[in-house]
Amino acid sequence: MFSLRMRASVGGRHVSGAERIIPKKDIPLVVEQLSKRAASHENGIPDTIHITIEKITGAIQYIPALPLTSIRIKSHIQAKGLAVGALIHSGIPDTVARSALELLQKGPAPDGGNMRGAIIMNCENKKRLEPDSFRGVRVTRMDMSPRAVETLRKELSTLKLDKRIEVIREALTLASKVANFKTIAELCISDNPSNHVGYVASKKLGFLRMPNLKKTGASAGGRVFFVRTGINLHEYINYLEHATVVVDQISGVRTVSAITTQPSVCSTMECLLNIQTDCQDKNAKKKRKSNHRKSHQS
Ligand code: AMP
Repeated sequence: MFSLRMRASVGGRHVSGAERIIPKKDIPLVVEQLSKRAASHENGIPDTIHITIEKITGAIQYIPALPLTSIRIKSHIQAKGLAVGALIHSGIPDTVARSALELLQKGPAPDGGNMRGAIIMNCENKKRLEPDSFRGVRVTRMDMSPRAVETLRKELSTLKLDKRIEVIREALTLASKVANFKTIAELCISDNPSNHVGYVASKKLGFLRMPNLKKTGASAGGRVFFVRTGINLHEYINYLEHATVVVDQISGVRTVSAITTQPSVCSTMECLLNIQTDCQDKNAKKKRKSNHRKSHQS
């Protein structure tokens, strides 16, 4: 198997990236797909496209995806409250969760710009641990197996989210790899101006995708990986950058609707508990209909 990584930049600024773990025979096709994608990215026309192809020599870890929940949420304030609630539920203290969210919203690099990689944050004292705070740590050498992609595509199409398959596939793969080793939780806000979606992921919570976590048009975004004091940072970064991980199983995909009556008070788990599952709604409707029928028959 081979690791194939693409990154595109303009004037030294990163505009897009993607990666795959593929058999040798697929290399020409995937090079074509990813170079087309690089050349047409909304972040700008690149002046440089790097494609790296490496034979994988070590072991490949196969892991299941985190269960995916996509929340229907309209209010930006409520989405922020929900993200904080989801982080608290995952074990991150309230003040740390809020600081991380603010950091991503104002631009997480020391000059207020975006980073190419992620922040590593001690969840007990907010301390940033990534060796280079301009660049951050980049998770690489990961992919989703073709069969898992197909399952994901089918499940997303029943939820009318299949147009977002590429972005969701890549985010879910990254989050599942990150959650698999010593990460208490992850917070992500896209840095694409036209993408206002973000997510919170953790082993405890799964992958919670939420629209409106960013104001549309804003370009600040990033990722925070929360870890505990005493983590072996060298081992952790080595896993993120070098362990080869393939997500080969989808663990469920669902949408839920957030109740929007109290948009500003989602500071804790209240908000998560206030969620109605759409399929629960449907089951409840079915039950009501059948009870209604029964009462008419009797
Ligand atoms: P995106 O989800 O591609 O919009 O990326 C949002 C932010 O996540 C970027 O601004 C980076 O800071 C960070 N990021 C993107 N890709 C990676 C990666 N492979 N590893 C770590 N952080 C990343």
